[in-house]
Amino acid sequence: MPRTRFSRRPTCRAVLTLIAAIVLLAAGTDPLGAASHPLRTQNVILVTVDGMRIQEMFGGMDGDVSKKEKYSGIDDLARARSRFWRPTPAERRLALMPFFWGKLVHQGIILGDKEKGSSVHPRNPLLFSAPGYAEILTGQYQPDVTTNDVKRYPHPTVLEYVHRELKLGKTQVATFGSWDGFKTLSSSQAGAFFTNGGYEKIPAAMATPRMAYLGELQDQIMALWESGRSDAVTFNLALEYLKKYRPRLLYIALGEPDDWAHARRYDRLLDYLHVLDDYLRTLWQTLEASEFYRGRTTLIITTDHGRGVRPDDWVEHDEGIAGSEDIWVAVIGPDTPDLGVLAPYPTVHQADIAATLARFFSLDYRKLNPEAGPPIPAAFGDPPPAPAE
Ligand SMILES: [Zn+2]
Repeated sequence: MPRTRFSRRPTCRAVLTLIAAIVLLAAGTDPLGAASHPLRTQNVILVTVDGMRIQEMFGGMDGDVSKKEKYSGIDDLARARSRFWRPTPAERRLALMPFFWGKLVHQGIILGDKEKGSSVHPRNPLLFSAPGYAEILTGQYQPDVTTNDVKRYPHPTVLEYVHRELKLGKTQVATFGSWDGFKTLSSSQAGAFFTNGGYEKIPAAMATPRMAYLGELQDQIMALWESGRSDAVTFNLALEYLKKYRPRLLYIALGEPDDWAHARRYDRLLDYLHVLDDYLRTLWQTLEASEFYRGRTTLIITTDHGRGVRPDDWVEHDEGIAGSEDIWVAVIGPDTPDLGVLAPYPTVHQADIAATLARFFSLDYRKLNPEAGPPIPAAFGDPPPAPAE
């Protein structure tokens, strides 16, 4: 914006401002494509839940998958059923995630309930982790992200963009991930803002006693696979960081649902999702108890990919496994209408999340990346786009 252009001509600037205001009032939007009313969001927390299917999100315990032990890997079906089986999908999801479905979702929206006519899809055809996270964080399918190798890519992310545009300090944007790769996927440049991933400890100079303790514990808790630490450590470190450093933008990247699914332990996957619900409850209650965050924080919760839908292939995902393309996104906060499940709704893409996140800070992400998907209108109470001709 050439701010100095009219600096010595106040009259001219005032007239132009007035004309601009009239034009904007008529259009109902500002040049960012943001709603005409100012947004209340000052902080955003992005949570990703690796490989969590729409089937569990919207329907809770899956009757087909859990039918045969051979396919489900359920060790004690009576226990699993008593915890999570109920007559209807709405009751099952409430049993699985009582806080999310009983309270949180009613303070915002969730998209992706395919049976009701709302789909969320990745643009990338690969349908595994790194391509999905790259798409979430950069707003587009990045064809050079073809493996889950931990490496840094040159594509700037929305986290970097918000950090730079709002001139935030190094601790005011942060990533916490259970897998090392979240650090490199979070930013095209090392050290731009605070990151902590894999079996990494918080630097001694920054660590609270609780952070130091969690750092010790992470080596003692045997995670299912060697590639990442327990989400309990990641989540609690992120929560402690939030209380201590009050980031404006926090990314919490959780990994365990994918692990339990690959291990073909449907019972433990359900147990985990119940724990996840408790993470969300704790996070939300912490925000609500904080003067800094209460009423001015938006939560965006999503997943990198879906998985197979059949009893034999629900453990897998990737290109060619039907169901891997079905994902979901929830947006909860003061600027999002309290609608819960929003369906039917035009298809939304994983690539739309970056611009949605940026818009909560009144930033236009597509200035950085013109290829990025648009903000999700419903997240701001705007009408859906007209269907393409
Ligand atoms: Zn996986």
